[in-house]
Amino acid sequence: LNRRLAGLGTTIFAEMSALATATGAINLGQGFPDTDGPEAVREAAVRAIREGHGNQYPPGPGIPELRAAIADHQRHRYGLELDPDTDVLVTAGATEAIAASMLALLEPGDEVIAFEPFYDSYAACIAMAGATRVPLTLRAPTFRPDLDELRGKITDRTRLLLLNTPHNPTGMVLTPDELAAIAALAVEHDLLVVTDEVYEHLVYEGAHHPIAALPGMRERTVSISSAGKTFSLTGWKVGWAMGDAPLVAAVRTAKQFLTYVSSGPFQYAVAEALRLPDAYFAGLRADLRRKRDLLADGLRAAGFEVYPPDGTYFITTDIAPFGEKDAYAFCRALPARCGVVAVPNSVFYDDPEAGRTQVRFAFCKRDDVLAEAADRLRGLG
Ligand code: PMP
Ligand code: GLN
Repeated sequence: LNRRLAGLGTTIFAEMSALATATGAINLGQGFPDTDGPEAVREAAVRAIREGHGNQYPPGPGIPELRAAIADHQRHRYGLELDPDTDVLVTAGATEAIAASMLALLEPGDEVIAFEPFYDSYAACIAMAGATRVPLTLRAPTFRPDLDELRGKITDRTRLLLLNTPHNPTGMVLTPDELAAIAALAVEHDLLVVTDEVYEHLVYEGAHHPIAALPGMRERTVSISSAGKTFSLTGWKVGWAMGDAPLVAAVRTAKQFLTYVSSGPFQYAVAEALRLPDAYFAGLRADLRRKRDLLADGLRAAGFEVYPPDGTYFITTDIAPFGEKDAYAFCRALPARCGVVAVPNSVFYDDPEAGRTQVRFAFCKRDDVLAEAADRLRGLG
């Protein structure tokens, strides 16, 4: 392993899911639903394969049907106008969009400011681009960013702000005021913004607002989303990057040499999924809001300090009430202690103290699974 990737070994998600498989524990670690997305969408993929749509290399930027559906989605939801031919790029999940953005937009030595705890691929992609990450720590209980602190982190090497709203793992959702303040800083210091919005439809309090819609932001923002969370199809790995043509062209150049193109038949199916009626998206949100409350109640009853999330399908907790001091050790021992797997947030911080006792649980699971997990966790106390 080269120096850039030193310390990045195996992702915590793979490690904890392997632990769940090995022990048979309930996996509330890695974020993936235990119920697959809409049957009509899955059928559309089967149909595409049968009818020979996308079985051979699709166009590099993504099939036109999907790019058009993405542009229509952005217009319908947020009033954002995108040219599907130049402003939209289909990628192998949001993960590739993040990687290609970092590789395309950063010079070695550039600084990238990102919230911590950060989604683990951010650290790896910034490192692969030879850049330096500068964390802005989100602190319990609200995990709201301190915008004065953000201003203080900007130097003449700062090139890019890497945002994530709704935020994994804390569930924090940036407010319109916070977005406006961040946008003003980006304009003032002429920074690029890459914004990871894969949980855009999983917001339970307030609403999701894309920073790209704010004045002065369009020309400096790459927005990223994905079908994985919105349609409960995380294995399909269809994502996208959006923005002004020059930015998207840069990301496309990097994407060409990472995967060349993304899987064809799934693109046809996701194009249909994005045109599902509003009731689908409202139903997803209502269902997950209920699950959030179910698991939050269970975790509180078990003795955890719970930080209720405004978005995503994760709940961050604190294990200090149990007298525990190390989230990673706690998560490694949890399957043997009570048959549940969770993820330690501590690995998502540069500052080893900041998230030392934070543990994340995913609630995108069947109600009976959440109830059983809560039961098992009650045995901890
Ligand atoms: N960003 C965040 C914040 C995530 O939680 C995830 C998790 N899947 C991704 C990106 C990756 O999305 P995809 O599966 O579409 O690559
Ligand atoms: N985004 C998911 C999570 O945070 C997992 C994705 C992954 O395993 N890389 O749990």
